[in-house]
Amino acid sequence: MPLRLFNSLHRQVEDFSPLEPGSGSVGFYCCGPTVYDFGHIGNFRTFVFADLLRRHLEFRGHRVNHVMNITDVEDKIIRQVAATGLGLAEFTGRYTEAFLADLDTLACRRPHHLPKATEYIPQIIDLIQRLERRGIAYRAADGSVYFSIQKYRGCGCRYGQLVTLDPEAQRRTERVSGDTYDKDDLADFALWKARVPADGSVFWDSPWGEGRPGWHIECSAMSMALLGPSFDLHLGGEDLAFPHHEDEIAQSEGAGLQQPGRPFVKHWVHAAHLLVDGKKMSKSLGNFFTVRDLVAKGYHGREIRFLLLGAHYRETFNFTLEGLEAGRSALARLDATVAQLAERSGPAPASPTATGVDSPFVASFGEALDDDLNVSRAWAVVFDWVRETNAALAGGTLGAAEAAARLADWRRVDEVLGMGSRPAEEIPAAVHALLERRQAAKAARDFATADAVRAELKALGWTVEDSKAGSRLKRL
Ligand code: AMP
Ligand code: ZN
Repeated sequence: MPLRLFNSLHRQVEDFSPLEPGSGSVGFYCCGPTVYDFGHIGNFRTFVFADLLRRHLEFRGHRVNHVMNITDVEDKIIRQVAATGLGLAEFTGRYTEAFLADLDTLACRRPHHLPKATEYIPQIIDLIQRLERRGIAYRAADGSVYFSIQKYRGCGCRYGQLVTLDPEAQRRTERVSGDTYDKDDLADFALWKARVPADGSVFWDSPWGEGRPGWHIECSAMSMALLGPSFDLHLGGEDLAFPHHEDEIAQSEGAGLQQPGRPFVKHWVHAAHLLVDGKKMSKSLGNFFTVRDLVAKGYHGREIRFLLLGAHYRETFNFTLEGLEAGRSALARLDATVAQLAERSGPAPASPTATGVDSPFVASFGEALDDDLNVSRAWAVVFDWVRETNAALAGGTLGAAEAAARLADWRRVDEVLGMGSRPAEEIPAAVHALLERRQAAKAARDFATADAVRAELKALGWTVEDSKAGSRLKRL
């Protein structure tokens, strides 16, 4: 069965097939962060979902060309730049670095391209000029340039591909200069915003005078510059479907750069929101946790990732600290099984591709994700495997070769899940010193002291495991 995904363009689950099957490459664009603050874990739910889809495509043998834009000029940013007195690049640079560090904390593979809007001003201007030449963009009295929905429709194009628009509202002809507006709002939207005093030093020269780009045109220009006028996958949170993505389609298809019959984007995929008490986690409601807040509370990035990967991407779910705790216990169970397999298998784990055939575990896991990224089913496959592996370990029937093969299977599955290994526990210096004293006592055959030190270690919550390879400290 091929990979199937819900395509927001057709409101149904469809087979995924690349636009250029022969090229082996998949063009993959996910709208990135607006860098005016630290991202909250609602934002990161979308980015972790994008990472899961990318990893699964790679698992299925596709070469993914992953682009994520950084919105580094926008109304909120400009307000913050004015408030802090910092330069635009200095201000956004700090939050871009923080965002990338948070992506690392959550084990997200780095996108291959991270274009910043401010570095694509010439491409943005070119695209607006092209729309102007085609009669779809017009300059208003305030000096800003707007997209005309009526003219766009007049060219035979459809506005309202991702959302169903209210026919009553279709008579509206107002303009909006803001980047977000309501569903059903058919207002012309800004492509280029004329400079106003509140913009301070944030402006660029253009054929229409000084100003700055609208948010929607940035993504059209950057995605097409890096992936071409038609590409495979475009992702984002569900709140972006309208107006942001609808406007991206209008600008990109309105410019007419695609080959006849080809869309701007073949598959649109949207992730549902992370909620808190039934409401969207968001900065404006103040009901958010950043990745850093949770790390400061003692949670590890992989535990946060595990929680965010717990629900299907098209389902909202409520964030709670209890949920994070439950995830921590489940992950500990998985870690314990993997650690036992490592111990049983010895130093040389089997190569996962030795036979070229997936084990039933790996095959079932892959099939679950092929089914519109059904993570609940995929985790059920993993935890069935944990249970069955634990039984085999406990039964003493699992030899080194089989343990190594199971470990290799887990590593292959984890290429997609990205849980990685449990971080090595830091051993306090005092505990280390006690271990050394015990080793010295043993070497001197002073077993009474060695036993006394072992008791001291036990009181501190540590035990020593002796094997042929040496002695090892382990938490009780
Ligand atoms: P922003 O930085 O606000 O432009 O948002 C970055 C990404 O996070 C976008 O794809 C949003 O759709 C997504 N997003 C924002 N809030 C949430 C949330 N509560 N749950 C899931 N995704 C979200
Ligand atoms: Zn975008």
